[in-house]
Amino acid sequence: MSVKPSLLEYTPEALKGLLAELGQKAFRATQILEWMWKHRVADFEQMTNLPPALRAQLAERFTLRPLQVVEVSESSIGTTRKFLSRMQDGHLVESVIIPAAEGKGGAQSDRITLCVSSQVGCAFGCRFCASGLLGFTRNLTAGEILGQILAAEEVSGNRVNNLVFMGMGEPLANIDNLLTALSIILAPHGLNIGARHITISTSGNVPGLRRLAEFGKPLRLAVSLHGASDEVRSQVMPVNRKWPLAQLLPALHEWNKTGKHMITLEYILIQDVNAGMDEARKLARVARDLNAKVNLIPYNTVEGLPWVRPSEAHCKAFCRALMAEKIPVTMRYEKGHDINAACGQLRLRKVQTEAADS
Ligand code: SAH
Ligand code: SF4
Repeated sequence: MSVKPSLLEYTPEALKGLLAELGQKAFRATQILEWMWKHRVADFEQMTNLPPALRAQLAERFTLRPLQVVEVSESSIGTTRKFLSRMQDGHLVESVIIPAAEGKGGAQSDRITLCVSSQVGCAFGCRFCASGLLGFTRNLTAGEILGQILAAEEVSGNRVNNLVFMGMGEPLANIDNLLTALSIILAPHGLNIGARHITISTSGNVPGLRRLAEFGKPLRLAVSLHGASDEVRSQVMPVNRKWPLAQLLPALHEWNKTGKHMITLEYILIQDVNAGMDEARKLARVARDLNAKVNLIPYNTVEGLPWVRPSEAHCKAFCRALMAEKIPVTMRYEKGHDINAACGQLRLRKVQTEAADS
């Protein structure tokens, strides 16, 4: 099987370098960028203002669609769609399309959010997470990250205008490719999506956070906290042993100095692990110190894992405890179960079925 690099991940500078190498004029870079991002062509043959020989040379060496959609599954709630794509080396990656239900004042919103994956599997091995369960296979290339957006547009028939890096993998552990992809996502000659429409979710990769802060764009940051003390956090997130709260929290304070938006602390509620009222008070303290908001996610059960979602009444009580401390808090009870929390589960099922079939 031939694995071709994707031309999608070429910045204008990289494209100019490539064209010089091919003995072509620099203005071709602008033409190619327009075909790739303005017209979203899937095939070099469609780049009709390029000389045919150049089109053939590019097609020989590069692909414009590093992902092939192999399965689309409808959600039971609303119009959310999850799709699974196969990459050139056969690995699978999952992405979720989430259309906004309604805009402000009940008006129809045209927001189309894509939940993007950044790695095949994940090396962080959080104990509750389906992505961690399969271990780490590899980083996605910048082209594959961008390819998910194009695949989503083909699946949904709409342009994506909001991105959340909450799919499979730890985006900040793939920081080089993430930053390349982001530079093309943000660029007017690229996808032209504004930084405030992009959320990066991290389990607390401190060096990655610093690099992202240096990148200097007003992106939104979500931190998977899931425990407001080292004792609780280390129980479910091995990453906390490497970068405990004493390192993570100062890095978040640093982020706040450069960031324009409030940090969101993601907090999965898991029975008998982190959902006690003591934990709610500790979480309130951390959130207040960071001037952060909290997003509570009642745990979404993963087959083969022992963790349990607390009762709805308990989750609501936890939420009220934060409200009583005047912490901005949301709880995605319905949606969370179906999409946000289902990180990596479709791929897990598919990999297991394939293993059973072979
Ligand atoms: N690696 C990054 C981004 C991907 S995970 C991170 O951890 O932030 C996206 C979110 O889904 C994280 O907050 C993660 O903790 C959460 N998640 C993973 N498995 C879940 C489950 N079974 N139920 C609820 N949330 C889950
Ligand atoms: Fe990796 Fe995030 Fe899952 Fe943890 S929660 S294993 S960091 S994808």
